[in-house]
Amino acid sequence: MEKDDCVFCKLVSNRIDYYGNIKNYKYWRVIISREQHTLSTLIILLKRHLIRFSSIDESELLELNKIQKEMENVLDNLFKPNLYNYLQCGNATNHLHIHLIPRYKEERIFAKKRFTDQAYGDSVKETTDIENPIIIKLLKKNITRQLSI
Ligand SMILES: [Zn+2]
Repeated sequence: MEKDDCVFCKLVSNRIDYYGNIKNYKYWRVIISREQHTLSTLIILLKRHLIRFSSIDESELLELNKIQKEMENVLDNLFKPNLYNYLQCGNATNHLHIHLIPRYKEERIFAKKRFTDQAYGDSVKETTDIENPIIIKLLKKNITRQLSI
């Protein structure tokens, strides 16, 4: 069930194009977040319009866990985060999605740019960085390469 005015419904049905798509699963899609709260912040999007996290069914839940393992493995290989935060809010866009936010004790360098997780050990701080297509495209290249290994 799609909602006409929902940006994530449009995204998962390919009615809008986004260059940060990573992988399409049966029930979910993984994309690179336009807002990089920390290096390689991803979003795991349910492919149907649902608002409550508690309303997902068993097969969606099982696939979500498979995705968590797969994405954590990719990010472990690429950036060795110290831990992972999963954030589900739905305040701005209520279509169910989960932010996968890798957390870093020390800074990482990617594409000659320094990435510091300033709030490590605490809740992530919302970044003021605007979308950076170059970083997103490079992340996509690196992540998809890892997924194909
Ligand atoms: Zn939706």
